[in-house]
Amino acid sequence: MALAAASSSCSPARNLTHVSSSSSPSLPSSKPSPLSPFFPCRQSQRVVSCSAAASPSSPFTEKDSAERYRRDGWVYGSGVPLPVSAHQNFSDRENEIALQLPELKRLLEALRAARRAEVGGGGGRSGPGSVSLVGTGPGDPELLTLKAVRAIEQADLVLYDRLVSNDVLGFVRADAKMLYVGKTAGYHSRTQEEIHELLLSFAEAGANVVRLKGGDPLVFGRGGEEMDFLQKQGIQVKVIPGITSASGIAAELGIPLTHRGVANSVRFLTGHSRNGGMDPLYVEENAADPDSTLVVYMGLSTLQALASKLMNHGLPPDTPAVAVERGTTPQQRMVFAELKDIVYEVKLADLVSPTLIIIGRVVALSPLWPQSSEETVVLKTGRLCCSQIE
Ligand code: SAH
Repeated sequence: MALAAASSSCSPARNLTHVSSSSSPSLPSSKPSPLSPFFPCRQSQRVVSCSAAASPSSPFTEKDSAERYRRDGWVYGSGVPLPVSAHQNFSDRENEIALQLPELKRLLEALRAARRAEVGGGGGRSGPGSVSLVGTGPGDPELLTLKAVRAIEQADLVLYDRLVSNDVLGFVRADAKMLYVGKTAGYHSRTQEEIHELLLSFAEAGANVVRLKGGDPLVFGRGGEEMDFLQKQGIQVKVIPGITSASGIAAELGIPLTHRGVANSVRFLTGHSRNGGMDPLYVEENAADPDSTLVVYMGLSTLQALASKLMNHGLPPDTPAVAVERGTTPQQRMVFAELKDIVYEVKLADLVSPTLIIIGRVVALSPLWPQSSEETVVLKTGRLCCSQIE
């Protein structure tokens, strides 16, 4: 079955040993053996590091992907030479959208004509098609739900975001059409309104449209807005949940987001700043709660302000924290540090988006949390089951 085809050689959480079930965030009782995948690669007093730089290739369908342009080739018209390794020709939004338009219109027309013929012949469906908002999880294709796989396999048209992993797109039928509508920081390939219109026009033409979104579509995914818009237009919307990056990454690292006696609540925050500034949008005083776990999405550029605010509001500077880049993928990298040091260490490791930050005492329950509070750990190829000692 299709699921087996996408199987990765890894079985992430299974190899994890949970460190403690006691009521305080105790540290692992023994150092990992040098043969253990948890063993850090190069140790200095403060940083243990295999690599400071992000891998240039991305597991996601991000903007800078020649592979993506090849995959979506149909939408750029047959006469347009597609870039093989570079994408400079496509870096301009207007240009890209203009290139997409003729094929999209042709497809829409074909769908409408097929619909008219079906209805005219008396046998076809006459109502609009449907839209499924499908969460694809944080990257590892094994974290897809069966419902998501089935919806993807049945799609006529797939609109996908930048944080959908390339592996997930392997489930799309060969005759289905794919269209990238993702965004990158500071660069929007299509506006949210344009995405709404695309979803609507194809659903109205009777297509089975699948809108793929990384993680869960209803967690910082603007899924609610798309759902609301389409429902108001009379389009049936199905939401298929995905594993949000907080859950997928916490499982990968062996961090219980809540833990009896350590964290009695968990809070998902956006570090996103209005107008692209350096200040996170929402950091209320009550976010600085030592009994709660904070998970920060889109928090890389505002981390400094967030960490200072949390400490100013009383969160202890030695609160354990971790930043995880490209979590659950083979390119995963992570930085463990106390809150007071996390900004410095994240910069040193040069983590890039997507990075998720978890702050709270539960982080010290991870078997990867360094033994000494003086240590900070940076691990490359951090998938627990696959990491290699370099
Ligand atoms: N709907 C998504 C979140 C979208 S917001 C979800 O439920 O996970 C985008 C942010 O999610 C990123 O900036 C990053 O903070 C986080 N994120 C998503 N996937 C990630 C991954 N594989 N590794 C690290 N962070 C990730």
